[in-house]
Amino acid sequence: MNQNERLNYLINYLLEDLHLDKDLFFGEDLFTTYRKLVNIREAKPVSKKFLEIQDEMLQEENRKKGIVSFENDNNKIILWKGDITRLKVDAIVNAANNQMEGCFVPGHHCIDNAIHTYAGIQLREKCHQIMKQQGILEPTGKAKITLAYNLPSCYVIHTVGPIWNGGRDREEELLANCYFNSMKLAMDNGIRSIAFPSISTGIYSFPVELAAKIAVHTVNRFLQDNPDCFDLVEWVLFDTHTESVYEDEVDKIY
Ligand code: ADP
Repeated sequence: MNQNERLNYLINYLLEDLHLDKDLFFGEDLFTTYRKLVNIREAKPVSKKFLEIQDEMLQEENRKKGIVSFENDNNKIILWKGDITRLKVDAIVNAANNQMEGCFVPGHHCIDNAIHTYAGIQLREKCHQIMKQQGILEPTGKAKITLAYNLPSCYVIHTVGPIWNGGRDREEELLANCYFNSMKLAMDNGIRSIAFPSISTGIYSFPVELAAKIAVHTVNRFLQDNPDCFDLVEWVLFDTHTESVYEDEVDKIY
């Protein structure tokens, strides 16, 4: 099967599963249609053939996007402007929401949507199992770990960042908890390289200057308290402004 044949198979399966009409997606490229359909599909089992074809298709997409990896240099914290789903590290961190099943908005531009889309539907299924067992929405600032399925990284650490409310809801402390608990969970799982996004500074509107200060301070402190536990800590920033704000903070510690 070539990539278009795989996508057509997956789209037809999903349209039938979701009782939707192909005409709704008229004029879109195949991957965009596929992405929207998987985004809105609730966690539930799927056929073995679907999974096989999905995995082949995503491996090919991930190869096309280009897999990126970094050697550690002298500094443990490095910055990179790009897409976290391209990164080959032990664990990438997802800025999740409190349902923790990935973004359901079709084709949305948030990091949660990207990670779930390129990992594959196994990730939503796994998160659903974890959440069912937990029985309550994921509290802000905690962290959970899963495999990364079709992503180049091995694991995804999921953490829910605080929604900015003018600093009235302990947002600073909660954001620090996201970083601390993600680092702790990574360390406990023997993870030696970890990549963070700028948690909470997108849809959740946390001011990026303050977020960067808390993020870099918390992680740097963790590294000092736990020397030799990590080879590489990286921030993956999606835009030039966010990158320069984090750069300023990292410059302060080295
Ligand atoms: P939150 O809800 O925690 O604010 P968002 O996904 O809205 O999460 O944004 C968090 C940060 O992640 C923002 O700076 C956003 O630009 C960035 N981002 C979005 N997609 C990606 C991606 N694929 N890779 C890295 N960063 C991303």
